[in-house]
Amino acid sequence: MMTVTPATSPRALPRITEMNAHFWCGGADGQLHILRCGACGTWIHPYAARCPSCRSADVAPQPVSGRGTVVGFTINVQPWLPGVKVPYVVAMVQLDEQADIRLLTNLPRTPIEEVSVGCRVKVYFEQHDKIFLPLFEAE
Ligand SMILES: [Zn+2]
Repeated sequence: MMTVTPATSPRALPRITEMNAHFWCGGADGQLHILRCGACGTWIHPYAARCPSCRSADVAPQPVSGRGTVVGFTINVQPWLPGVKVPYVVAMVQLDEQADIRLLTNLPRTPIEEVSVGCRVKVYFEQHDKIFLPLFEAE
């Protein structure tokens, strides 16, 4: 079971739709959910109505391990939103399940000097009402 923390900072929250609810609200059960093709097993993110590999429409969310690797990052120093402390890391995390499943996310619990390309990370969730924002931290 992954940990869930209450919101600690103001964030721009996503607009929930039928197509993205599994991703943004699925963390309620402590797991990250990504669409997967039932025909060929390909993981699909962001949402697509059909599998990009085999064109099957048999796609449904499934939990993933929540573990991945930082494949790129930048350090933001610009205070874009009032109340959001800078600097902070914006990271591209590649999930262990599939090399082309990458999430743009933040690592607020990990000291900036500990973030590097190749760094192993795991998901946790920050709850905002029914939204469970997937964030990552160094393992
Ligand atoms: Zn497929």
